[in-house]
Amino acid sequence: MYKPPHLTPALEAAGAPPATLPRAAIPFYQPRISEEAILEVVSTLRSGWLTTGRKTKEFEEAFGKYLGLKHAVAVNSCTAALHLALEALGLRSGQGVLVPTMTFAATAEVVRYFNATPILVDCRPEDLNMDVLHARRQLAAARARGLEVPIIIPMHYGGQIGDAAGLVELAGDENLKVVEDAAHCCPARYRHGNDEPWLSVGSLSQVSCFSFYANKCITTGEGGMACTDDIQLADRMRIMSLHGISRDAWKRFTAEGSWFYEIAAPGFKYNLTDIASALGIHQLREADRFHAERRRVAETYTRFLSDIDELELPREMPNRVHSWHLYAIRLRLERLAIDRASFIAELKSRNIGTSVHWMPLHMHPYYRATYEYEPEDFPIAVREYARIISLPIFPDMTEEQIETVSDAIHDLIATNLRPGLHG
Ligand SMILES: *Cc1c(COP(=O)(O)O)cnc(C)c1O
Repeated sequence: MYKPPHLTPALEAAGAPPATLPRAAIPFYQPRISEEAILEVVSTLRSGWLTTGRKTKEFEEAFGKYLGLKHAVAVNSCTAALHLALEALGLRSGQGVLVPTMTFAATAEVVRYFNATPILVDCRPEDLNMDVLHARRQLAAARARGLEVPIIIPMHYGGQIGDAAGLVELAGDENLKVVEDAAHCCPARYRHGNDEPWLSVGSLSQVSCFSFYANKCITTGEGGMACTDDIQLADRMRIMSLHGISRDAWKRFTAEGSWFYEIAAPGFKYNLTDIASALGIHQLREADRFHAERRRVAETYTRFLSDIDELELPREMPNRVHSWHLYAIRLRLERLAIDRASFIAELKSRNIGTSVHWMPLHMHPYYRATYEYEPEDFPIAVREYARIISLPIFPDMTEEQIETVSDAIHDLIATNLRPGLHG
């Protein structure tokens, strides 16, 4: 019986059910949780302090240091971090926020929390990140309709930063605050030219937001971080993450705190538990190792698949350090007699897990109906959506597994060439 590596002796001893995966099954993602991390979670459970406390403070400090960002506020999701960022920047009902259409639900829904309008922007083909020229046009059109637009939220697709220079220029020209949706970016870097210094993800914005969801670069099961160099924004996000109370629970209930607190504003309940942070501390220590492993997987895929003319492979752009959270291939559909859905179904029948990141937001019923979008309003996103497939990529992925996936793809392409186009 195949035993997934994440079923450690400690978990088995704790009564985890026996694994039933057949040997050939290759999941889309599989987290790596060290024995030390498990022991730290267990010791946190035994400590008597379960919610936000010392472990969370330690995780925040280590995370900020890792990315070179001054303040880090731990929360229970990246969605919460995005919400707090918009609140701290003062977004108001009736205003607009520039958001990519090629992104996950969270990036735009947080704008709706304020009864503000997400103004969707198309992506550019090379890296599926926001097309900054289209953002300019969308901004001009929205302002011409009388909408105030104070904020833009770029999202770094798959863990690669897009048109950084264009974003900085746009934000400067148009007086926009920037919130980075950096859910895929632990870590990612960029520089403005060969002789320029490397900058970390988070340097582009007032607030950058990270995700520790189960399949992200590092995980706490569920969790997120809002990072900023601005102490006032950090204070506001911290206060609003816990009911708008001006002191956090840990300080309130320990000897150095007191029973007294004041409510500064009607806040939210977004704090991260010490149980999650105990895991996060250990995941963060391994972030560079995980990154190196994902890079190895990406480079191996590229080696195995680069001879297939019917595919476009993701690549690291000049002056970028890709996190390789995703490895999204694109089918050249005009050369193939198979569509993306069938391609995924064929891989699934061979026990290979894949995913699609993403169906563009403007194609979803809510956004279509609310804002009367048509698919062709964002032609690049629609065209690319039809042909993207995210392949399995995770630190423990073996050469053999990468080869199995690559062989299956070679085979599927070879048996589904469009007749007439090939000799
Ligand atoms: C996963 C993800 C989020 C949301 O993260 P949560 O921690 O699950 O809230 C936001 N944006 C993007 C691009 C994501 O992939």
